[in-house]
Amino acid sequence: RIVYCGGEFVAENEAKLSLFDRGFLFGDAVYEVTAVIGGKMVDNDLHLARLERSLSELSIPMPLSREEIEAIQLALIEKNALVEGTVYLQVSRGAEDRDFLYSDGLEPTFIAFTQVKNLLGSKGQKQGLSVNLAEDPRWERRDIKTVMLLGQVMAKRQAKATGFDDTWFFEDGAITEGASSSAFIVTHDRRIITRGNSKAILPGCTRAALLKLCSAHDVVLEERPFTIAEAQGAAEAFQTSATSLVTPIVRIGDVSLNGGVPGPVTRQLQAYYLETVNIPKAAG
Ligand code: PLP
Repeated sequence: RIVYCGGEFVAENEAKLSLFDRGFLFGDAVYEVTAVIGGKMVDNDLHLARLERSLSELSIPMPLSREEIEAIQLALIEKNALVEGTVYLQVSRGAEDRDFLYSDGLEPTFIAFTQVKNLLGSKGQKQGLSVNLAEDPRWERRDIKTVMLLGQVMAKRQAKATGFDDTWFFEDGAITEGASSSAFIVTHDRRIITRGNSKAILPGCTRAALLKLCSAHDVVLEERPFTIAEAQGAAEAFQTSATSLVTPIVRIGDVSLNGGVPGPVTRQLQAYYLETVNIPKAAG
């Protein structure tokens, strides 16, 4: 695979990073994951805008312009002949001798790579997933997409060990979001509910795209926190992320929703979203 590292395209086994990179030593780095379907990036403008915002919140300069980053993404897709999968971007504050305090004027480290992944044909897309519930273990700036992901790593491992596919986090009795997704429920009168953006959750790009689709299709959507009881008593549930698109949730903890199969509202929203992402753009 060809990756981008040190300002150039190199074979993955030739990519070199400093041992003193702050991304590695402190988790002092942010990232983005953009889905690629049919060789085209999905919602990439939203991802690049969020990258810029995450960096700005941490006072890390943009390493390159949005246009330059997009050109690198497109080149990686082409060089690796990627049809379906992801493009990953990471920007760290840079490298210097280890100290909590960082120097002004550090040059950020920018890397990017692609991964092949079956997005449209995943188990989640077809059958839906089960989630367990776990107290949200993360810090208080979840709106910044940092690589400090140990809470999510541990939660997903625990979910798998106990027979679940994924995890939804809660705080003060209300769902915050999925371990790597935005969480939604569908009420018995077909309203969609999802927590509003704040420092408590990551502002999902797929979430933003879905909200637009709801308003275009006159689907009623409420942005507010919902409780664990509401989630387990919901007609349907689903989660969104770049890699999972719109994924039905068919079991929350020990409660099955809609008889353990994806519900009709979720299936409709899945179809609306796929319609928008799956249309190949005209060449040129
Ligand atoms: N929330 C968290 C904690 C995530 O890690 C992610 C994606 O990885 C999302 C939400 C969904 O964001 P997006 O739709 O931009 O991929």
